[in-house]
Amino acid sequence: MTIDIHTHIWKEGYKSDLGYEAAAQYLAKVVNEWLGGVDGKEISAKFALENLFPKLMDPDGSKSIKRMDEAGIEISALFPVDAGLVWGDGKIGIEEYNEWMADIAKRYPGRFIFFYGIDPRRKNAIKMFEKSITNLNAKGLKLYPLSGFYLDDKVVYPFYSVCQEADLPVLTHLGPQTSIFKVKCGTPLRMKQVLIDFPKLKIIGAHLAEELWPDLLAIGKEFPNVYADISGHQLDTKEKSTHFAHVLRRFLNEMGPDRIMWGTDAPFFEPIVSAKEWLELIKSLPEVSKNTDKITEAEVEAVLDGNARKLLGIG
Ligand SMILES: [Zn+2]
Repeated sequence: MTIDIHTHIWKEGYKSDLGYEAAAQYLAKVVNEWLGGVDGKEISAKFALENLFPKLMDPDGSKSIKRMDEAGIEISALFPVDAGLVWGDGKIGIEEYNEWMADIAKRYPGRFIFFYGIDPRRKNAIKMFEKSITNLNAKGLKLYPLSGFYLDDKVVYPFYSVCQEADLPVLTHLGPQTSIFKVKCGTPLRMKQVLIDFPKLKIIGAHLAEELWPDLLAIGKEFPNVYADISGHQLDTKEKSTHFAHVLRRFLNEMGPDRIMWGTDAPFFEPIVSAKEWLELIKSLPEVSKNTDKITEAEVEAVLDGNARKLLGIG
């Protein structure tokens, strides 16, 4: 089976209008670039907001389960993105949003692993997070530094302490994503001091840090407690899977085969490259790379299942 280490569930009202607009702008850009728009016509952010987003909303988690079943995904790690301090909060506050998501996870036993998602600069954030470990069965912490903090800011340190102590992983967004966000805060290099100060803390760098992957590779090589997920690489892999195979080969060689994990960042990419198609792209890598980078079946299997299983402590 397969474990998806990076997913979200969208619900009306959890982002502010500005947050939705920013996400819609990004989705419209991707749809225009990769699908040539909708029905042959370029789409606007407004179109994405009004016509594509409603299809991605999943208030009871059933669309997520359907996606997982269709693709053959057993378990998805699930977490909110807290960008409220940069875009403004939506009608649903971050605490309520986390609770709602934890409840979805509870509703489908064995299908989701919930991580608490919070901006560490929020009032009482550490208390909310600590409480979530017992009350909401949170199995990790999701950070979103693009909302305006650095990973080595002291405000994040209490969270690292809690996670190291409880042996819970931290998954952080890495990479510039889009220029509308605070680009510089997503740099992997700001993990270094954290890794020095918390030698047993497990940190998962999301999206292989996007275009900043060489920096993540440099950090991952040096610190054995750095992990990475490959979510968000659907489009570049679809365009040129030999190139992605080459990048993946570098990570597998230099960080070892057991710290890279597959993920979708669902539901964002669903309209463009479905989870099922993304999975097939990864499964095709041994064939695609057989004369060049030689990704093996066993490595693919570890990336799709075994590595996440070990990290999350799932039997
Ligand atoms: Zn994400």
